[in-house]
Amino acid sequence: MALLQISEPGMSTAPHEHRLAAGIDLGTTNSLVASVRSGDATTLANEQGEHLLPSVVRYLPDGSVVVGAEAKAVEVSDLNNTISSAKRLLGRGVDDIKTLAGNLPYTFSSSDSQVPKISTVAGDVSAIEVSAEILKALKNRAEKTLGGDLKGVVITVPAYFDDAQRQATKDAARLADLNVYRLLNEPTAAAVAYGLDQGEDFDEKIIAVYDLGGGTFDISILRLNKGVFEVLATGGDSALGGDDFDHVIAEWILQQLGDEQENNPTKLREVLVEARRVKEALSDADKVEVSLGDWQGQFTAEQFAELAEPLVKKTLFACRRALRDADIDKEDVMDVVMVGGSTRMPIIRQRVGDFFEKPPLVDIDPDKVVAVGAAIQADLLAGNKPDTEMLLLDVIPLSLGLETYGGLVEKIIARNTTIPISRAQEFTTFKDSQNAMTIHVLQGERETVEENRSLAKFTLRDIPAMVAGAARIKVTFQVDADGLLNVTAEEETTGVKSSIEVKPSYGLSDAEIESMIKDSMTNAQADMELRKLREAQVEADRTIEALDSAMASDGDTLLSADEKTKLLAAREALLLEKQSGDTEAIKAAIKNMEKTAEFYVARRMDGNIRTAMAGQNIDKFKD
Ligand code: ADP
Ligand code: MG
Repeated sequence: MALLQISEPGMSTAPHEHRLAAGIDLGTTNSLVASVRSGDATTLANEQGEHLLPSVVRYLPDGSVVVGAEAKAVEVSDLNNTISSAKRLLGRGVDDIKTLAGNLPYTFSSSDSQVPKISTVAGDVSAIEVSAEILKALKNRAEKTLGGDLKGVVITVPAYFDDAQRQATKDAARLADLNVYRLLNEPTAAAVAYGLDQGEDFDEKIIAVYDLGGGTFDISILRLNKGVFEVLATGGDSALGGDDFDHVIAEWILQQLGDEQENNPTKLREVLVEARRVKEALSDADKVEVSLGDWQGQFTAEQFAELAEPLVKKTLFACRRALRDADIDKEDVMDVVMVGGSTRMPIIRQRVGDFFEKPPLVDIDPDKVVAVGAAIQADLLAGNKPDTEMLLLDVIPLSLGLETYGGLVEKIIARNTTIPISRAQEFTTFKDSQNAMTIHVLQGERETVEENRSLAKFTLRDIPAMVAGAARIKVTFQVDADGLLNVTAEEETTGVKSSIEVKPSYGLSDAEIESMIKDSMTNAQADMELRKLREAQVEADRTIEALDSAMASDGDTLLSADEKTKLLAAREALLLEKQSGDTEAIKAAIKNMEKTAEFYVARRMDGNIRTAMAGQNIDKFKD
């Protein structure tokens, strides 16, 4: 997805009216809220001075909830009622989480709802509700610190979040009573925090965003072109993060202690806590004293570098693959942005710098950079900067279209179009007196329905009886600023309307999006040929339909029995050829049909019965 700078005229406000706005980084492990105050975007702390809010929610028997550090502290002793990493479940359906659920300590309720729910002492809760509690806590913090009600927020989401995950994030915000100006991709927010979208000294710029958090690794390759940020590729590993670096140190400690400790869970936990402390301390020192019970030792940065090497390599491998997917050479990457607490590790900074052959950007706290970018964006959207009036917009990752006759897809909005966007196209009925039309909404780059992803289907009914081609059905695709699609179909002569909000119950992963785009390229030639064939087949149907319609209305009066036989023979030949799969043969049969019917068309025209003929069909038999 991408960003565009535009000015939205209605958004500027009177000079002294400052609207309270905030940016929220709703993280898997930790969440943050930031705001622009006196021109500076900073994260907001709680009363204890802590900026990071652990994304952990505990449910108590009386129905009350505890959010953050306090919930995290008791997590191990109350696993069933203390939910962490809810972000991993957001927008997932019951089927999606079946594989995940086995690894989670929660009991999933077996309600027939499509949204998975976790059973707690306070009742069943969904990931949306859990996320809403985190958002509420951040909202309270912001309103207390800023001294007023928030007018709106920008919430960040991973670049690979699909429609369902984005919708779930918005639903959580609605539950928390937040007005969401916009969802923003996390890597884009990080680039905005560094002001990489500013300055005029470039035409096009490639940016890599390396995000290593607690349990996940994401690499995004962005292109900034004429004010538009586009996500060229995303990659990473949803099961690789800072925790894995803790584990390699923990293993080393266990080795020093001797094997007998390995099956003692309490001991293991202690070892892990110490390992994390050592890891974090090593970010500011060459060696660290390790102590556990009465055992003492020393662990050096050099030892750490050696043990962590396989993990570092894994991330660099994902970087290489993302560059390849984006079709970008390493040398073309102008800036590398570091995000996530784990990018504090000197070995990471060193090796990422070596890989991209330039020092990565590390000046902004890697925990806070996403929230800071979101805050800058929220401030603009609130209209607090009337002199700049620059806004950032996303683009849609895959084309959106409709099924048309013959199993073909008519693209309404092309991939990489900036959003929000609204596009309309007119369609007509295919048959006389057709009173309903099914609208099948599809996503993808390929030419045929089977090769694209079906998003939704609905039917426009009560189309008044008209001859084929006379109804004017306007189909409007509207994508809002968060990438959510609404489709409306309206019969324009009567105003009969039908619409649907497209909310797929599950979505596409980034990998699926990439492979769909790639498929469309590798199959472009085959698709083109198939499209031509399908078009010829549709044309054949139309020709037959037109003939049938004409013969039904005046065949008996205008045609002799002999003439009828000739026309029907040509019709039969065309029908046979239509099944052949040979585009050229079908086209020839259509030509032949038209030639055979020439005299009939002329006779109908002479008879001045033009009005009896259906819409476009008259043109058909005229030429
Ligand atoms: P997430 O994006 O998953 O919410 P964060 O970006 O908050 O996670 O990163 C958390 C990770 O950062 C943890 O593994 C933590 O140990 C690690 N981390 C935090 N500070 C440091 C540091 N000084 N040195 C190394 N790792 C750190
Ligand atoms: Mg993060």
